[in-house]
Amino acid sequence: MFTAERVADEKDWIKGESGDWEIIIGMEVHAQVASNSKLFSGAGTGFGAEPNSQVSLVDAGLPGMLPVINEFCVEQAVRTGLGLNAQINLYSRFDRKNYFYVDLPQGYQISQFEHPIVGEGEISIEPEEGIEVTVGIERLHLEQDAGKSIHDLSPDETYVDLNRSGVALMEIVSKPDMRSPEEASAYVEKLRGIVRALGTCDGDMEKGNLRADVNVSVRRPGGELGTRCEIKNVNSMRFIRQAINYEARRQIEIIENGGSIDQETRLFDSVKGETRSMRSKEDAHDYRYFPDPDLLPLNLEQSFVDGIKANLPELPDARKARFIADYGIPAYDAGVLTVDKTVADFYETVAKGRDAKIAANWMMGDLFGALNNAGRELSDSPVSADQLGGLLDRIADKTISGKIAKTVFEKMFEGGGTADEIIEKEGLKQVTDMGAIEKMVDDAIAANAAQAEKAKENPKLLGFFVGQVMKASQGKANPQAVNELLRKKLGL
Ligand code: MN
Repeated sequence: MFTAERVADEKDWIKGESGDWEIIIGMEVHAQVASNSKLFSGAGTGFGAEPNSQVSLVDAGLPGMLPVINEFCVEQAVRTGLGLNAQINLYSRFDRKNYFYVDLPQGYQISQFEHPIVGEGEISIEPEEGIEVTVGIERLHLEQDAGKSIHDLSPDETYVDLNRSGVALMEIVSKPDMRSPEEASAYVEKLRGIVRALGTCDGDMEKGNLRADVNVSVRRPGGELGTRCEIKNVNSMRFIRQAINYEARRQIEIIENGGSIDQETRLFDSVKGETRSMRSKEDAHDYRYFPDPDLLPLNLEQSFVDGIKANLPELPDARKARFIADYGIPAYDAGVLTVDKTVADFYETVAKGRDAKIAANWMMGDLFGALNNAGRELSDSPVSADQLGGLLDRIADKTISGKIAKTVFEKMFEGGGTADEIIEKEGLKQVTDMGAIEKMVDDAIAANAAQAEKAKENPKLLGFFVGQVMKASQGKANPQAVNELLRKKLGL
């Protein structure tokens, strides 16, 4: 069914005992439609509600219930399809996917099998600087979510919460076009950026509103495709990379020891960093799909699609192009800063009226680094865009040096107040008074007379003296002035 044409760069190959291996990755991402009511009922979808408080007769699968399609959800699926540069199918149909599970009271899931609402498309990703990869979209279909079984409330009973039962999901299926864990997480990141910009899914992976099933197989570079395993419901970018790494190495080890891979569904254990078998993988025929007799096929008017298309917001790729043109920042920076709407909005606030490249460096370096260490998202950053901008203003007007700014930033991140407040309170203002700097320079030379003598033959000693003066000034002396004065006084 699938072909995988592109061969990974050599640097992405995995060295096995018997030679090189290439990882082939495809994804099925379930994105919850940002809708107040469910796909086929009027029940609510709010997160964190009392168990079973948002369940209609349809969601509970009671006999005689009749699903009615939610037009808003259809519109969101079309919007998302357009955002994925994909074919919108004016004719689509709902099918029943039959399987038994306690959290699926109907005994089947209403999904789309043969005729999905969205067909082929593609998106581009930039997993690392200068590398652009196009990932094909196979399809997007609408389907219902299942409920949730809860096994840990009672030692001998399982509870079922049907709040999620019937919630609208968009299942976005990629082609097997990814070749490394980094490409896979960059793909999900890009996808999340697109749905967030469109407003069709909030993309909150921690709440399970965006989750990835990752298909992994290995082959000799460019060779025959191997048997794949599917890792279900991976819910963070880091876990996606870890799961793929582990799974690829597991498969290679089995094959190199003379074994073969069983097609199966596996779970990722994020605590152990391992995947483990869940069940042998079903094929489509195991689900006995057939058209849902309760629902008419969906026939969309072209004008309905055109109307949505005419009102699409600025998407990440367009915004990236605008950032390159308007702010003059490198393509890679523009890509990183536009992959998510929150990030891009933040950047525009910081960059407006300031040095755009310095703004990009501070966001991508210091801010993202601090957020990463703290395990926080930009949306709950303790440093706001205006506060970061305020810090950059103090570097620009030379109130503080770039180095002191790092200290101020750390204090800001810990909730110490605005840049001005911290500079004032901690007395971090740069010393630009030439008289004061000259005194510190003279003191340093006097205290290190022998070194000063040698400096004439060995100009590298200038660094030593700069260090002494900066230390004496607690980092506050203007480094340029210190350098100039030292050169003069040491006769360099
Ligand atoms: Mn699905």
